[in-house]
Amino acid sequence: MLKNLAALPLVGGLFHPKWLSAAPPASTPLGRDIFKELGVRTFINAAGTYTSMTGSLLRPESVEAYRYAAQQYVNLDELQDKVGARIAELVHCEAATVTTGAASAITLGTAGVLSGNDPKKAARIPNDLSGMKSEVILQKSHVIGYAHAIKNCGVKLIEVETRKELEAAINEKTAMMWFLNAHNFKGKIQYAEFIEVAKKHNIPTFNDCAADVPPVENLWKYTEMGFDLVAFSGGKGMRGPQSAGLLLGRKDLIAAARLSAPPRGNTVGRGMKVNKEEIVGMLVALENYLERDHQADWTMWEKQIQHISDSVQKVDGVKVEIHVPEIANHVPSLRISWDESKIKLSPPEARKALQMGHPSIETVGGAESVDMTTWMLNPGEERTVAIRMLEILTKHHTNK
Ligand SMILES: *Cc1c(COP(=O)(O)O)cnc(C)c1O
Repeated sequence: MLKNLAALPLVGGLFHPKWLSAAPPASTPLGRDIFKELGVRTFINAAGTYTSMTGSLLRPESVEAYRYAAQQYVNLDELQDKVGARIAELVHCEAATVTTGAASAITLGTAGVLSGNDPKKAARIPNDLSGMKSEVILQKSHVIGYAHAIKNCGVKLIEVETRKELEAAINEKTAMMWFLNAHNFKGKIQYAEFIEVAKKHNIPTFNDCAADVPPVENLWKYTEMGFDLVAFSGGKGMRGPQSAGLLLGRKDLIAAARLSAPPRGNTVGRGMKVNKEEIVGMLVALENYLERDHQADWTMWEKQIQHISDSVQKVDGVKVEIHVPEIANHVPSLRISWDESKIKLSPPEARKALQMGHPSIETVGGAESVDMTTWMLNPGEERTVAIRMLEILTKHHTNK
């Protein structure tokens, strides 16, 4: 069944405890293991940056930044002003602010476009948009659930497909044109043309780039391209706080967006409070991300993917495919599928077995495959993932 038994770490059985150690135990000055106390499952994340799986792990620098920031009071607006200015400099745009994630950046950015610099208007969003524009145009192919964050401001979404429809949809109520970066190639109107039409009609543009680092240069690519506002998640590729994100762009629009953000209470954004620990944690995560050796990170992810791929490929009937998504989650990814007449287990059942095993491992995929990435693994965990996957596939092989 195995093409090359000797190459596998089978001696002593597959369950050598050393290989199956979970993520390193949390260093805990608390002297407590709170997840364990609560009975909350922890797992190896071979899936990627999913909100339901709590995004990414903070790097130690950001954890230290939390600890640091927790010890003193500051003025929230002053901190946002100064961190925003520092971030804008780091990512080469006019202005920036820390939000509670990309979704909140979308709501606050939209609110800012509607209110301009008038706090009285901001206070009327979303229930009374009188005296404000009330429509946001986007392409049909760019409509995803996260567009709800625009609707939070009470505006109507106008869906178009062609340039002709776009130009026809623009009217005196058009507040903004919204773009989903990951779907650029799915739309009939791509970057340059979208921006050109918007500029011609003097309409602000918003580009949702939530999951779109790496590559690092995306942090300035789209503001430099001419988008007026750009959003990134903090807790995805940058490994900042999952409850943080960045809103980047034009100075006047960032200032306007902040009219709807805390500490201001009578606003659509009052529930989107970023605390000082998260603001500082986000700044440090961004600094750390910018300074990283991105080539070295990439090489490591590739080696880890290759390791898992090489291991499972040895099982008769297994097919592997290594690929890199073009825009969002642009990292080495592995798709594992198999001949179910040889291995009597469906991919969803295999994912369940990975999840229920010890240590628990999370992956993604549909009915046809087990899909995984390595960018959210702690170094070494790829060995555990490879062994567990191999064990599950061989256990259900007809030719044992
Ligand atoms: C993840 C994601 C969001 C939401 O980001 P948060 O930082 O979790 O608020 C919005 N848009 C897209 C395309 C995303 O991938």
